[in-house]
Amino acid sequence: MEQQVLIIRKIEKITHNVLRFTLNNTNKIKFMPGQAAELAVDKDGWRDKRNPFTFTSLPFEDHLEFTIKIYPDHNGVTNELSKLEVGDKIILKSVFGAIQFEGKGTFIAGGAGVTPFISIIRDLHQKGNLKGNRLIFANSTQIDIINKNEFESILGDNFLNILSREEVDPYSHGRIDTAYLKDNITSPEDYFYICGPEPMMDTVEDSLKELGVEEDKIVKEVFN
Ligand SMILES: Cc1cc2nc3c(=O)[nH]c(=O)nc-3n(C[C@H](O)[C@H](O)[C@H](O)COP(=O)(O)OP(=O)(O)OC[C@H]3O[C@@H](n4cnc5c(N)ncnc54)[C@H](O)[C@@H]3O)c2cc1C
Repeated sequence: MEQQVLIIRKIEKITHNVLRFTLNNTNKIKFMPGQAAELAVDKDGWRDKRNPFTFTSLPFEDHLEFTIKIYPDHNGVTNELSKLEVGDKIILKSVFGAIQFEGKGTFIAGGAGVTPFISIIRDLHQKGNLKGNRLIFANSTQIDIINKNEFESILGDNFLNILSREEVDPYSHGRIDTAYLKDNITSPEDYFYICGPEPMMDTVEDSLKELGVEEDKIVKEVFN
């Protein structure tokens, strides 16, 4: 696809290190919930540095939304994105992505790896098809939980949180391992969607297989 230059309409700080960018979608860019695009900052020295980010808006909306974790110490694309203001421009190239909804299941996310599930879960909710789907969300501490209020509101008891560096009610403490999944999986025959950093993905995938989940029921995308 031709590269598109998009104007920032709104920037919101949604956790201590995550920003939500709302962009104009004048050219009606087509994507499926769960897909990503390559983004670059439209500034001298940054136009060729493109990194992948997931659409968190829905395809029919009149704007695009991206939910982006900022790494100031990398001095890379996300740090540059964090310096932008309303009216500044972002370049979007090539829509792609491995995660799409295949059927009812459990979404398992680590940190910013939740972004493909934001769009998918919103889409299911809009269509009245969210029932029976669950989200297991792993973070370091509770202040890292992206879109906590929204997930609580639309998923209710089907929103499970686990924190690795904080022990606080009502959240589970630790990492997503076989024991945790054994206690928390309700339907092993459903789909399992995994997205997060590579080490977490490997552990979760191995654990799911150990618990009898078929390989073709595991849908995944690594976020590094
Ligand atoms: C398909 C896909 C979709 C994604 N969607 C999203 C999304 O929606 N939201 C989101 O927040 N993230 C998403 N990610 C992850 C996101 O692309 C990266 O987190 C982001 O590009 C990292 O950019 P950066 O600013 O940290 O540094 P970069 O611009 O990638 O790198 C800058 C420099 O930082 C250095 N660096 C890199 N990693 C480290 C490190 N761990 N420690 C120290 N230095 C380091 C490197 O030397 C590099 O030269 C997605 C990833 C994929 C693959």
